[in-house]
Amino acid sequence: MKILLVDDSITERHILTAYLTKLGHTPIIAENGLEAVKLFETEKPDLVLMDVIMPEMDGYQAARKIREENTTWIPIIFLSGRVDPEDIAEGIAAGGDDYLTKPVNLKILQAKMVAMQRIAKMRKKLVSVTEELETANVELKKLVNIDGLTGIANRRYLDKYLTVEISRAIRNHHPIAIIMCDVDHFKKFNDENGHIVGDDCLKSIAKTLDNVCQRKSDLVARYGGEEFAVVLPNTSIDDAKLVAETMRKKVESIEITDDSNNKKKITISLGVYSDNPNHTESIEILLAKADSALYNAKKDGRNKSLVFDNTL
Ligand code: GH3
Ligand code: MG
Ligand code: MG
Repeated sequence: MKILLVDDSITERHILTAYLTKLGHTPIIAENGLEAVKLFETEKPDLVLMDVIMPEMDGYQAARKIREENTTWIPIIFLSGRVDPEDIAEGIAAGGDDYLTKPVNLKILQAKMVAMQRIAKMRKKLVSVTEELETANVELKKLVNIDGLTGIANRRYLDKYLTVEISRAIRNHHPIAIIMCDVDHFKKFNDENGHIVGDDCLKSIAKTLDNVCQRKSDLVARYGGEEFAVVLPNTSIDDAKLVAETMRKKVESIEITDDSNNKKKITISLGVYSDNPNHTESIEILLAKADSALYNAKKDGRNKSLVFDNTL
């Protein structure tokens, strides 16, 4: 261990330095509390052995300062000629972890240092496990909202996002647009090319749709199997239709390579809806309207985007 030894008595320093070195430790010497606080910062010791009565700054003040200025815990053991119970209590209250009275029995000091080292080790382990847990938690929070296959938002996040954005649209009297997309004849595509190529195809489509969306507030989510939902806040029906058409054309131009290196084509159909929402319009109603437009696009021959028609 690197041990910060703080004592104003030269004799004490010599005895303890010799003893600590003999035990294989590296002592760093401070002659008073002020020096100890400075050396604690620069040397980052594993343990502090501190006298109490010293010039400039006493041991209690130094311990308090060290505890105030550092979040990582390092054991501090007081070595003092003062033997009153009040002194011991004050030392512990100042941030000390143990208190030995002088003349120090070197065997006892060694045993106490071993005990402190054990606690420090356990604490270090606890800190590292806590850090790992925190990282895992952040990762988990992200994963809860992400679709495992495509890496875009999942249905769960779509619902959360839509709730927030519908409220915002109502507050600001802005429209909100929804596009529902469904891959055309995807069952056939899977049957012909296999599920793995089908999965790759879904990944490419997700990426393509996501790339078309330019605004930070736009969201592409995997709605289900081969269906995607797009949320475009503050977007008119005409602008949403343009986005949908761009998506359709981009997907049409994707080339998917199958196992035998053949290039395969795929298309999507899209239903577009945009309106200034009110309090009676739930997420389900908005999605149902875009879905009804999608249904019409399918009926109308696929590989097309259609706008929701209220008159139908
Ligand atoms: P339509 O043009 O009417 O939409 O026809 P379709 O064949 O695309 O529609 P249908 O709903 O009959 O079939 C959807 C297919 O999508 C069936 C299912 O196996 C496939 N599918 C759904 N999720 C996945 C997936 O995660 N990976 C793969 N490879 N296929 C999927
Ligand atoms: Mg479908
Ligand atoms: Mg389909």
